[in-house]
Parts: sequence; structure tokens; C-alpha cells
Amino acid sequence: MTEIEKAKCENTGNWINMCEALSEVTSNSYGDITAQIKSRRDMDSRRISIVAGKSRGNRVELNYCPFCGADIATEHKEPAND
Ligand SMILES: [Zn+2]
Repeated sequence: MTEIEKAKCENTGNWINMCEALSEVTSNSYGDITAQIKSRRDMDSRRISIVAGKSRGNRVELNYCPFCGADIATEHKEPAND
């Protein structure tokens, strides 16, 4: 397996393939930036969100990657009906 270094985050809708820098800070929790997985059982859906902040009430979800500037706002995927 080769490790692919991403220069830019890739937003797949409900998931982020993180760029190298974001991947590094989230795995080390630098700057209180963490990746959180949010699930909704009723929709059988998971999404990843990148949040910054120390305490629960203080956290903000990041819409853009602070490193590459990519749109990293995710949404739960609607079940495919059509
Ligand atoms: Zn990025």
C-alpha cells in the first residue's frame, strides 16, 4: 500500500478525504482541531465534521479547511429514493 499525500481536501458530501496538513492536525489534535463522526440512526448515515475548540460549548464546526481552503462542510446523505 502506498500512502497518498493529498494536497487538498476532497469533500465527498458526507465525508472528507483530508489533505495532509488537516490529517496531521486532527490526528494529533493540534490547535484543538479534531475530526468528529456524527451519525444519525434514523437516516442510517454518518458524516465527518472538523471542529475546533477546547470545550463542548465552545466548539465550532469548520466549513473550510484552514490549510488548503477546501469546502469541508458535510451533510448527511439522504437515503436514495429516486
Ligand atoms: Zn485541507
